[in-house]
Amino acid sequence: MKQPVLFVLDHDASFLDVMLTDLTRRFGNDFTVTGESTSEAAFASLEAMATGNEPVALLLVEDSQSEFLARAHELHPRAKRVLLVDRDYRSRSPAVQAIALGHADYHLVRPWADDEMMYGAMSDYLASWTSEQEPQFELFRIIAEEDDPRVPQLRDVMTRFSMPFGFYAVGTDAGKRLLDEAGVDASRLPVVISHDGHVMVDPSMPDLAREIGVNVENDVDTCDVAIVGAGPAGLTAAVNAASEGLDTVLLEQAVSGGQAGSSPLIRNYPGFPHGVNGGVLMERTCEQAWLMGTHIVFAQQAVGLERRGDCPVVHFVDGTQVSARAVVIATGIEWRRLGVPAIESLVGSGVFYGASVGETRAMQGQDVFIVGAGNSAGQAALHLAKHARTVTLLVRSDSYAESMSNYLVREVESTPNITVRRRTEVVDGGGGGRLERLTLADRTRGSTEEVPAAALFVMIGGEPHTEWLPKEIARDAQGYIVTGREIFEQPGAIWNQDRDPLPLETTMPGVFAAGDIRQGSIKRVASAVGEGATAVRLVHEYLRAAELSASVT
Ligand SMILES: Cc1cc2nc3c(=O)[nH]c(=O)nc-3n(C[C@H](O)[C@H](O)[C@H](O)COP(=O)(O)OP(=O)(O)OC[C@H]3O[C@@H](n4cnc5c(N)ncnc54)[C@H](O)[C@@H]3O)c2cc1C
Repeated sequence: MKQPVLFVLDHDASFLDVMLTDLTRRFGNDFTVTGESTSEAAFASLEAMATGNEPVALLLVEDSQSEFLARAHELHPRAKRVLLVDRDYRSRSPAVQAIALGHADYHLVRPWADDEMMYGAMSDYLASWTSEQEPQFELFRIIAEEDDPRVPQLRDVMTRFSMPFGFYAVGTDAGKRLLDEAGVDASRLPVVISHDGHVMVDPSMPDLAREIGVNVENDVDTCDVAIVGAGPAGLTAAVNAASEGLDTVLLEQAVSGGQAGSSPLIRNYPGFPHGVNGGVLMERTCEQAWLMGTHIVFAQQAVGLERRGDCPVVHFVDGTQVSARAVVIATGIEWRRLGVPAIESLVGSGVFYGASVGETRAMQGQDVFIVGAGNSAGQAALHLAKHARTVTLLVRSDSYAESMSNYLVREVESTPNITVRRRTEVVDGGGGGRLERLTLADRTRGSTEEVPAAALFVMIGGEPHTEWLPKEIARDAQGYIVTGREIFEQPGAIWNQDRDPLPLETTMPGVFAAGDIRQGSIKRVASAVGEGATAVRLVHEYLRAAELSASVT
């Protein structure tokens, strides 16, 4: 394979020379570093590379050249796009919109204090390109029908544990050969073959988790704090609890990461200006929780919770149980998904679950779409309409008046750049690595239409994972757990202690709730992380008070 190219376009020829020399010194062994000072010459050069099948790993271009960047990216769609930006913190800087809409992946601010800062950033960007190339070595091979609904789940598990894998459709020569070599036929699929030749036919989640090498058996009877759910809230609670000396057990029904782990790009998590892959963020947090001393059990669903004496006891699907001095419930919600594969693959690159207010300014002059008919969809439409050229609200039913408050309906209908399309669904979409178009199905006319779209906000709600909890844990009408002083406002909620509940404490003393599962939660990764950490601080407070009262009696 030809050496991948790192390509620079800068109109300042002397700056270009310096950049090419510096970049060659650091990356010249692995990449061909080259560049041009005019967009015409740069485009011709990149065209020749495309014709000669020369892979381009990275395009580094001045921020005024975003049009060139888009054309260059059409020639080299796998190249990482980096904008060279002169330091400028105005919200109208071209970099703001380019990054939000997925027209660029990264930026590099000049001047840099020393070359190492620039090298560090470029190393990260190039490493990200390298990680997206086909794996040289496959730890697992999945053989299945192309449209097997279990395959996305298998891919998800492997990706969340950074296991390099290959997918082979059963009808292909390679798929047949792998089944032959493994000595199994195609009557039961999917088949997963590990690098050491171990064959799993239609593996269950625990089988797969065990094969990956993670602990799936609950072998602990007691602990200080049991945390249920390994999304951002549960993982952060585990990091904090274990690091603060609590004997901590973390239980998860699948593998770690929660909803955040399924997001290819989280753009609003502090510290990651270009966004962060949710799977990577969660995998690192999981490693951190483990290294702090958390005992983690995967593929174990909690099916019950009771209070025995002073201790809450969590019951698991395999019949085991753990008795803890305190429990943190962080079981999150199941967001309703659009279920359109082309759209799911663009989450973070023009497709957003929930309305990210931070993205709204970047929608300046763009055509954006919202799926949903509730109050949050209405509020998002009004907010986006201040910046976007057009906002289209896509509503599946005949009317949205029942699901949205009257005042919002009135405001939506009187805002000139908002259009409401009833009985309309998103059935497809796509673009070159970011959302550029949607296919809408009009259920009244029975027709489909392709429309240009810079962004899609999906706001169709979700279901909290609280079905496993006893009645004793009060929930609101939607099933969210009620905590803290809100308990006193909740009809039917019983609090029978002679103290007030702590913030985040549920109606079962010593049992706390954190993250999306909690009534009134913000439904964001950073807020779930904040609540996970806060819950541990409150667990300490609860345990201290319990010890004090035990010593008095
Ligand atoms: C596609 C997508 C993209 C998103 N993008 C963003 C974004 O860009 N920015 C942002 O801030 N937010 C984003 N969000 C929202 C964000 O991911 C959530 O707010 C956050 O993950 C909530 O964290 P949590 O820990 O409370 O719950 P979750 O992440 O839902 O984790 C709950 C965990 O509990 C486990 N669990 C459930 N029931 C049980 C049980 N009975 N026993 C054991 N385990 C159980 C689940 O398997 C899961 O792993 C996105 C959400 C989705 C779905």
